[in-house]
Amino acid sequence: MTLTPAPSAIGTGAAANPLHDARTQLADAVALLGYSDGMYSMLATPRRELTVSVPLRRDDGLVELLIGHRVQHNMSRGPTKGGLRFSPDVTLDEVRALAMWMSWKCALVDIPYGGAKGGVRFDPRSYSRGEIQRVTRRYTSEIMPILGPATDIPAPDIGTDDQVMAWMMDTYSVNSGHTALGVVTGKPLALGGSKGRAIATSAGVVHVALAALDHLDLKRERTTAAVQGFGKVGRDAAVLLSRAGVRVVAVSDRDGAVHNSAGLDIEALARHAEASGAVAGFAGADDYEHRDDLLFEEVDLLVPAAVEGVLNKENAHRVRARLVVEGANGPTTPEADELLENTGCLVVPDILANAGGVVVSYFEWVQANQAYWWSEREVEARLRERMQSAWEQVVETARTRRISMRRAATLMAVEAVASAHVARGLYP
Ligand code: NAD
Repeated sequence: MTLTPAPSAIGTGAAANPLHDARTQLADAVALLGYSDGMYSMLATPRRELTVSVPLRRDDGLVELLIGHRVQHNMSRGPTKGGLRFSPDVTLDEVRALAMWMSWKCALVDIPYGGAKGGVRFDPRSYSRGEIQRVTRRYTSEIMPILGPATDIPAPDIGTDDQVMAWMMDTYSVNSGHTALGVVTGKPLALGGSKGRAIATSAGVVHVALAALDHLDLKRERTTAAVQGFGKVGRDAAVLLSRAGVRVVAVSDRDGAVHNSAGLDIEALARHAEASGAVAGFAGADDYEHRDDLLFEEVDLLVPAAVEGVLNKENAHRVRARLVVEGANGPTTPEADELLENTGCLVVPDILANAGGVVVSYFEWVQANQAYWWSEREVEARLRERMQSAWEQVVETARTRRISMRRAATLMAVEAVASAHVARGLYP
């Protein structure tokens, strides 16, 4: 099969951006699998992308124009699935990269979805709740032609939450003339959300982190951890790690970082952050001078749970952790991966480590489509089983092929997507 353009034409340009990183990882997997340039081109290129204008009437009556994107990377294995991000840093290339990683993640944990991602370029912290609701509803109605429970199913990501999902579901439902519970996941429980979804990503991160500590023969009661990002993923990962006996000594958010070598009281820190809006200034810790110093703390486990590219060729040599478990999507660039591998630091890749969120999103969608709800225990047990099985398969592939966990996970996922694509054949 030959598709144009060839890898050199669309592939890995010089500029450092998440899409460059995602395509570099893909090119590596395609080479290991011996696939053609045509297969690379097909997998490197989103199947469908939509850029929309989102006019917003501000509370003062003035109209501001925001830009939104929705990218559907691959739909060979099923409807597309992926988060919606509200952030001033959203770019089309970032959304493309995140959509590609979603395809790999869904394939790796064997759920019947392709990957998608969406974003609106604005900082929700500078807008009122009413304004955020209007942005959400207008964006949803603009992307309605490519949205739907059997087409593309968004979920929360940076800057969005269960309320945003409720507004999306309502907007879609009102415009379709019927209530469509399966059109988004990560909804409030009152609206067909799944038990266990709110902490699912963090629970999966911690499940894999504890498996990795065992794998390295590190006793969790004697290990220390640093967590970058104190949002939906980072906060609950820190809470669950400390409940599991790991000493979490450092935490950061967008505005600062704190540390306490005796271990942070994470639940108290969460209350402080909730009340003040930031981790800095917490009475039970010292503030770091520079936020990113946390990345170079002497800890056993580092959990980046914020944004892409934070571990890169400029700084990876300074990382002292023995283990990096990626709560965020794309936090480690390919250059940093190589540096970390050379220093013996084990990196558990995003598409495995943070897959718990999309796994329970899938459970939520299944429950919504059947209108039949599962108990919290059932959700937890099924999540654990999926994460453990994916962990074991990636470890085994890495061991037998003598490659890193990133390369093993990407290879397995790319193979699953490519097999589905080939089985379907090229239309017409
Ligand atoms: P969030 O908006 O709830 O939280 C993001 C956190 O990161 C905030 O505390 C913010 O202050 C902090 N942050 C931003 N930039 C930072 C920086 N440079 N240094 C330190 N902290 C910084 O978002 P989230 O849902 O927790 O998502 C975090 C990451 O996890 C993203 O990469 C996202 O794609 C990924 N992820 C999220 C889910 C999910 O279910 N929410 C699932 C899988 C992966």
